[in-house]
Amino acid sequence: MSTPMMQQYQEIKARVGDAILFFRLGDFYEMFGADAELAAPILEIALTGREAGEARRIPMCGVPYHSVEHYLPKLIAAGHKVAICEQVEDPRLAKGIVKREIVRLVSPGTLTDGLLSGQDNNFLAGVWHDGAWGLAFLDMTTGEFTIFETESFDILQAELAHVRPAELLLPKELLKQAKPWQPYYCTVRERRDYVGTEDLREHFAGQAALLEEHPAAAGAAAALWRYVLASVPGTTPSHVLEIKLYNQDRWMVLDSWTRRNLELSESLRGKGKKGTLFSVLDLTKTAAGGRLLKRWLEQPLLSVAEIETRLAAVEGLYRDEFLRSDVQKLLDEVYDLERLMGKVSYGSAQARDLLALAQTLNVPPLLRALLAPQAEPLANYLRRGDDLALLKEKLTDALNPDILSGSAQTSLIRAGYSAEVDELRAVVSGGRDWIAALETSEKERTGIRSLKIGYNKVFGYYIEVTHANAGLVPADYQRKQTLANAERFVTPELKEYEQKILTAETRLGQLEYDIFAALREEVRSHTEEILQLAQELAQIDVFAGLAEAAVRYNYVRPEISAAKEIRISEGRHPVVEQMLGTQAFVPNDTSLTPEKHLGIITGPNMAGKSTYMRQVALIVLMAQIGSFVPAQKAKISPVDRIFTRVGAADDLAAGQSTFMVEMQEVAYILRHATSASLIILDEVGRGTATFDGLSIAWALVEHLQRHPALKPKTLFATHYHELTQLGELPGSFNLHVSVKEKGEDIVFLHKILPGKADRSYGIQVARLAGVPAELLQRAKVLLRTLEESSQQETLMEEAAVTQLALFAEPETHPLLDEIGALPLEDMSPRQALEYLFDLRTRL
Ligand code: ADP
Repeated sequence: MSTPMMQQYQEIKARVGDAILFFRLGDFYEMFGADAELAAPILEIALTGREAGEARRIPMCGVPYHSVEHYLPKLIAAGHKVAICEQVEDPRLAKGIVKREIVRLVSPGTLTDGLLSGQDNNFLAGVWHDGAWGLAFLDMTTGEFTIFETESFDILQAELAHVRPAELLLPKELLKQAKPWQPYYCTVRERRDYVGTEDLREHFAGQAALLEEHPAAAGAAAALWRYVLASVPGTTPSHVLEIKLYNQDRWMVLDSWTRRNLELSESLRGKGKKGTLFSVLDLTKTAAGGRLLKRWLEQPLLSVAEIETRLAAVEGLYRDEFLRSDVQKLLDEVYDLERLMGKVSYGSAQARDLLALAQTLNVPPLLRALLAPQAEPLANYLRRGDDLALLKEKLTDALNPDILSGSAQTSLIRAGYSAEVDELRAVVSGGRDWIAALETSEKERTGIRSLKIGYNKVFGYYIEVTHANAGLVPADYQRKQTLANAERFVTPELKEYEQKILTAETRLGQLEYDIFAALREEVRSHTEEILQLAQELAQIDVFAGLAEAAVRYNYVRPEISAAKEIRISEGRHPVVEQMLGTQAFVPNDTSLTPEKHLGIITGPNMAGKSTYMRQVALIVLMAQIGSFVPAQKAKISPVDRIFTRVGAADDLAAGQSTFMVEMQEVAYILRHATSASLIILDEVGRGTATFDGLSIAWALVEHLQRHPALKPKTLFATHYHELTQLGELPGSFNLHVSVKEKGEDIVFLHKILPGKADRSYGIQVARLAGVPAELLQRAKVLLRTLEESSQQETLMEEAAVTQLALFAEPETHPLLDEIGALPLEDMSPRQALEYLFDLRTRL
């Protein structure tokens, strides 16, 4: 490497901080020194060396520029940032060293190419504290930009867990408090980045008021926007059109525990989507549809009217099988427009992307024709598309469709679109003919039958003659190159023609590119319409997918009521029934009303308690996103939150004991539940000693039963049979899972029935699990001893007494009334003192 270039490298490298520098050299991005040593093993490419003057060799590695999409995400996934440095002038025209500049800074939150999954959003988020907590998050690939503000740090954390940002921007002072941010890839910003919203207001002109009303969120958004602008120097992400306020009152709140416990889009075991509600319901055809469904699952609606509108749209597609399959076929043709507009905005969209857009634009008129005869809601979802017909025509006219079939040599612009392009093309191909003709005539003139005209990059066109024919070479041939068995010559005539062809070729390339770039600009000028169309298509895709699921899995349309009740007949667990097969799954009923709002469920392990409770939560949630539900009939009143405390949370890795986590969750539920909430509690209190646990569970049930402002709908599964006493109190009821005894063994029927379980069958379950007979024998003896021990009775008596005491009217001492009636104003101090003495004798 020449020293001046190395100097240029060093200068640029010094500007990018800890990012790995991709330094463009011809057709490669090269990395040098420590960058190369770091990157080569991650990218699985060879580490070589390069002379760096004064007999010094520095490590080096490189990737071809056209495979950057493949390599970049690997470095990002490994936790590195990458700065991309391009040649910004034509190397052929450069005097001295080619000018180079950083064109992009890529980090996990600003990665836009080669993302692993189209179905996941890739969010960059920022947090700021200014009176309240502010959160801003942006998906650079799709342009969604949202802000959110809250007083509560708990809620902030829950929302952050919901967003699951790929990268989180934090001011230094917040990073000191490390724990809450631990799960995220954090990038520290300076305090000054959060101050002032000029940059934001310049881009989002209409939204000054929104920003002013939410100063904390505006601070977070300001820092985030500055970071984004710096990541693409010189360009503005034009596909980010507006900042939306995330409005918590519109949606059911799902905390991160619940989202995880219910396995909405991530399974508890491992990271995959298998076994999640999303995996069952996602029969969408497009990546944008998949992303939208996932968002809906995490933000169920609260408004009865909004839910009904969605249900009606799903029903339209549910009822008409032909319509559904036609719609889905059309959706199959739809390209990811949100991601495409992201590429357009960064100038990285290729001709094939624009062709894909043109193809997608064929869809709206066809889709509209299909939906038009439909009842209201469905047709209403598609408004956009016609206004883009002209754009579509232009793209189709201009771009060469062969690009899609993939040869790199294909020209960009269709014949007939531009007269100038056609002319230049004629010169180029005419030139090739001229060369071919020259070859023939030179063969004749010289009598050399093996004479060839060839082309290479260094010498251009040449005439090749084998050594054997050297004697026949005419005088006007000028020798250019000698090979092992041939000589290469040029003639002035050949050189002159070559110049003409090459000039035409260069001009043709430039012109085609200019036309393409103008088309891309034109597409960019329609960003707003295209993104709206993308949203509309995604919604229709989700409706069609939900309708398909309803048909395939035999779901029914739920009745949405304002009566504050949940009534389900023959409900099923949407995911478990898929795993077991519909035949094997035993459906169960549910009824939770303001009068009977708390159910205590008993039954042996493995009987189906958790499955039943989750099934209720999932059915309610599905109804609130506008989906049909797995039941024979369902009447659902929207709930404002679902809380779950299900199974042993595996937070041991995070250094917290199970019991501690459990109690934190219980505390959280009690702080946030309302009478419109649904709470699912499984085995609460199990993480500690029996009596502690029972006492806590007992007190918790009492609280949920009796707290006047609360009375949330609750299902509580427990091993503590003692709790069934509470199930007999007002507002509550007992349920149990039926079990059939067969001699020493038991059979699970998975049927939920009213009343309490009479036994816990722990030993039978252990037998089923294959625990050795000897051990079981010993366990039986121990059980008997324990059951007879008075300790347990004492606890029960104590509990029962407290219970009575809590319910009884407090007794008043008769003397209190007498004291209350004393004429104190009329008594002398002496009389008062005498009364006190008298009182003491009467106590
Ligand atoms: P518990 O919470 O009572 O320990 P689970 O709800 O975990 O029990 O259920 C245990 C297993 O029983 C599940 O994995 C499932 O295979 C099966 N099961 C549960 N409910 C049903 C049902 N309604 N129909 C058929 N099988 C069921």
